[in-house]
Amino acid sequence: MEKERKTEVIRSTAEMREVVARLRSAGETICFVPTMGYLHRGHLSLIEAARKRADRVVVSLFVNPIQFGPNEDYDRYPQDFDQDLAACRESGVDYLFCPPGEEMYPPKYSTYVDEERYSRHLCGISRPNHFRGVLTVVAKLFNIVCPDFAVFGQKDAQQAAVIRKMVADLHFGVEIMVEPTVREEDGLAMSSRNIHLTAGQREDAKMIFQALTRAREMVESGVTNTDRVEAEVTNMLTSRRRLRVIYVEVVDSETMERRREIVSGKSLLAVAVWVDEVRLIDNTPL
Ligand code: AMP
Repeated sequence: MEKERKTEVIRSTAEMREVVARLRSAGETICFVPTMGYLHRGHLSLIEAARKRADRVVVSLFVNPIQFGPNEDYDRYPQDFDQDLAACRESGVDYLFCPPGEEMYPPKYSTYVDEERYSRHLCGISRPNHFRGVLTVVAKLFNIVCPDFAVFGQKDAQQAAVIRKMVADLHFGVEIMVEPTVREEDGLAMSSRNIHLTAGQREDAKMIFQALTRAREMVESGVTNTDRVEAEVTNMLTSRRRLRVIYVEVVDSETMERRREIVSGKSLLAVAVWVDEVRLIDNTPL
């Protein structure tokens, strides 16, 4: 019989630890879905996968200040707690963990987790301390929630790769699951930041998925040269007035290192663009 799910909101690390200890002693498995909130269907697909995988689902909601650069959008990152709680209730989340900022980063906080290879490509270049911030918060959350499984989105492919590497290198006993990107009807990858797009920007942003699709078609028709694919995708993106390319790169899907030749099943095309002042990323396996 389906267990009754009534999302319990947890607002301290001590309380989260107590819950985890209770679940563990009852022999229940935990699947964890870390988020920054403003939940959309992409997040919900991770929650659905989590429900299938373990007895209990913990979702965290924390806009992690240390993964944003000084001129980035931390101050205007969208938030709507009531809507997020309602979404968690509807999708059968057991615990919504909202750690207070003061507990996560008290004054004089000074310990960080860094990964020195996979994180140095793609977004690691344009957002220098981003992955250090991500890994630090994910490591902390793993230590508090002690999950058996944790789910991430393929939408942030480099983030997933860097987290997998940290888990392997630091012997975290958690199995990482990666779920496919959920898209709007016209192909735009769902993102909390899409809310910032005006109608005109939204229209131009469609080109991202069109360019990724074109790249996949090129590879399916036999193109293996990275330069050719990257050039075509760059041309398509820059044909839109509001788009500025941050990077367009074919990389190894595990290490995020650039590849000269596309290797079917092992290559990933990753793009990051500015749509005016909104930064969007997307990718497709090739
Ligand atoms: P965020 O709240 O943006 O930090 O994202 C939380 C998790 O949701 C991350 O693992 C993301 O990769 C994942 N995610 C974000 N957007 C999507 C999407 N469109 N499809 C699937 N997963 C997503």
